[in-house]
Amino acid sequence: MSTGTTDAATSLTTLAEDEQLIRASVREFALARVRPLVREMDEHARIPRELIDGLFDLGVMGIEIPETFGGSGARFFHAVLAVEELSRVDPSIGVLVDVQNTLVINAILRWGSADLKARLLPGLASKRVGAYALSEAASGSDAFALQTRAREAGGGWVLNGRKLWITNAYEADLFIVFATVNPDAGYKGITAFIIERGTPGFTVGRKEDKLGIRASSTCELVLENCEVTAANVLGEIGKGYKVAIETLNEGRIGIGAQMVGLAKGALEHAAAYTKERKQFGKAIADFQGVQFQLARAATDIEAARLLVYNAARLRDAGQPFLTEAAMGKLFSSEVAERVASLAVNLLGGNGFVKDYPVEKLYRDAKIGQIYEGTSNLQLQTIAKQILG
Ligand SMILES: Cc1cc2nc3c(=O)[nH]c(=O)nc-3n(C[C@H](O)[C@H](O)[C@H](O)COP(=O)(O)OP(=O)(O)OC[C@H]3O[C@@H](n4cnc5c(N)ncnc54)[C@H](O)[C@@H]3O)c2cc1C
Repeated sequence: MSTGTTDAATSLTTLAEDEQLIRASVREFALARVRPLVREMDEHARIPRELIDGLFDLGVMGIEIPETFGGSGARFFHAVLAVEELSRVDPSIGVLVDVQNTLVINAILRWGSADLKARLLPGLASKRVGAYALSEAASGSDAFALQTRAREAGGGWVLNGRKLWITNAYEADLFIVFATVNPDAGYKGITAFIIERGTPGFTVGRKEDKLGIRASSTCELVLENCEVTAANVLGEIGKGYKVAIETLNEGRIGIGAQMVGLAKGALEHAAAYTKERKQFGKAIADFQGVQFQLARAATDIEAARLLVYNAARLRDAGQPFLTEAAMGKLFSSEVAERVASLAVNLLGGNGFVKDYPVEKLYRDAKIGQIYEGTSNLQLQTIAKQILG
């Protein structure tokens, strides 16, 4: 894959050849393999394993993993394109791929020892799903108030506590779990651990019954005297807050991409429907009132995409991107909700029923303003930048 950067003279949305290729292949997969399953996955709240295997075969479950470890050896921007294209068809599949790449693999690539990389990356590139467990019942926005405790014992660590809201947990084999080694040290006690499914004392608990992204699993994790070896500490003891902050800063660009894809999907459904549906003797798309609503939605989506692509390209170029990522997630999640809502309106009664895809996209849109930092938390990040 090319390591290409954008030419300063071209638009942020102009794609290099390798970027066009990944977008086209993911689009093809999304239409052929994901689209036929969308309604069933939403109803049954699960993703079939064959579809996950298909995502591995497509190469989108290990986008930034070097080819030497069996990955695609591509860039973060490619992950953003993959998440966007999948979310255009089903945001649940978008977030599965997003968490795998922008949180789990990203953290291991940046903070993993040579031993952890050699042990974990080939599996993550070929068949193993990852999950990222920071949140707890009493610590969401205030994530570093977490209470899961790690005690040193026999050269390793023993973890006790519970994690809540963990995406991919039902399917995952491998979990990045944040715990504190010293509650008195505040955020400086937080440490990241790798826990593999099957480790004694580790259980994946109840699956949440959700409003949207229903196919994406969200589960509780229970740790009861769960023994973790010293070799499975990710990064340094007491530096887990850095692992969390830095990966979430990048992860939220992926959520921005999920929301851009969702909005684009909703607009496409609305545009197609309004060209077909006739009222007052003509297609409703012939009414200027409808055209202007579609035009405003398209403008919103383009603005959201520019913010998200800008943050992703800055990240790949090694430039600061914190504020841009927060703006991208904040704005694109609002756009997704607005555009999905418009799509419901423009489909009339059909927008309100499950025979058409837009009511699901409307439900799915809501999560963009909640996970990986609520909108208020994004505003806080942006305000800090303004006020110093
Ligand atoms: C479907 C789903 C998937 C998720 N996946 C994961 C995952 O994979 N891993 C993981 O670790 N977590 C995950 N989460 C958790 C998610 O990140 C949290 O729900 C989120 O950070 C908000 O935390 P909370 O739910 O405790 O809300 P709270 O923090 O209690 O927030 C409630 C409200 O208060 C507001 N608020 C809080 N503090 C402030 C403040 N200082 N200023 C202004 N307003 C404030 C918030 O904006 C929000 O509107 C997931 C959640 C969901 C619903």
